[in-house]
Amino acid sequence: MSWEENVRKVVPYTPGEQPKTTNVIKLNTNENPYPPSDAVWACLSSVHPQDLRLYPDPAATDLVHAIAEVYGVKDSETFAGVGSDDVLAMCFMTFFHGKKPILFPDITYSFYDVWADLMEIPYETVPLDEDFRICPGDYMKENGGIVFPNPNAPTGEKLGLDAIEKIIAGNPDSVVIVDEAYVDFGAQSALPLIHKYDNVIVTQTFSKSRSLAGVRIGYAFGPEKLIKYLNDVKYSFNSYTMNRLTIAMGAACVRDVETFRANCRKVMDTRAWVTEELRDLGFIIHESSSNFLFATHPRVDAGELFAWLKEKHIYVRYFNKPRINQYLRITIGTDEDMRTFCDTLKEYPGIGEDKV
Ligand code: PMP
Repeated sequence: MSWEENVRKVVPYTPGEQPKTTNVIKLNTNENPYPPSDAVWACLSSVHPQDLRLYPDPAATDLVHAIAEVYGVKDSETFAGVGSDDVLAMCFMTFFHGKKPILFPDITYSFYDVWADLMEIPYETVPLDEDFRICPGDYMKENGGIVFPNPNAPTGEKLGLDAIEKIIAGNPDSVVIVDEAYVDFGAQSALPLIHKYDNVIVTQTFSKSRSLAGVRIGYAFGPEKLIKYLNDVKYSFNSYTMNRLTIAMGAACVRDVETFRANCRKVMDTRAWVTEELRDLGFIIHESSSNFLFATHPRVDAGELFAWLKEKHIYVRYFNKPRINQYLRITIGTDEDMRTFCDTLKEYPGIGEDKV
């Protein structure tokens, strides 16, 4: 079959499981446990069914404008896409078109190497230090671009703005993408740096802190020139990425800053007590600045605990990968869900035996 030679063959990204049943405590894909702003539903009446005959605005102007306004930047410094996965994929396609390898951490969002393979972008992974931290000094070598999440995933560790600036300033010939999917849960955004450097892109999402994973909205900020390049590639790939309903929902959602802040606060408060309680049960937990915890237990095999929790209808995330195959990533749910989670863990042999 000679056509097989012409087929693009890739190993796809594996998303966390979306169970079909509802009797599950779902702590495996970093969704927000609280509902989004009421404005998201209220705005739908503004979209007339007749309008759905027509293509949407390819520039998603209303949404881009609302995001830009809320964040105090220009529309021309803002880009919107179908979740930050779409935004990041467009960024890879636009900014990582050189011959030198792009750099990202060895332990990080597992979509980066998939996009790099798909787009035939050479890449090199940079090991996190033994405490799973990103060291800016390790990124001072020849490269065709840099991408990392802040806070990192799945570790939840944040990087300070000064360290991020060091990476951007030290690589003036590369575009540096800061993936801020989880930034609203305790890290500082690199957004101000788009006005200081010409080589930085910051991406964020409505999926986590704005409770709209199911609607699919992501966005990027950057200097005008970079956003123009990004739009050129987007229009060359698929001009109508954002549908009319999504544009309206996103614009309404981002303007409700109060609900957004309250939901982030609730997640952070829950994270604080769950961290303490898991430490009491003998878990070693990385200091999280995100809506999930990265946890290991010296006496318990993470893969076995993951499978056992699943039997108990509690889903967490397990990555069978070097360096992290003894860790679980646990999304912060409601207080009630996390209470059940902690109580269930106490039934597992070897957990909680140190408790005094
Ligand atoms: N970046 C990171 C680090 C993530 O963990 C995720 C969520 N899987 C994303 C980007 C993409 O999220 P979304 O496409 O829902 O915006």
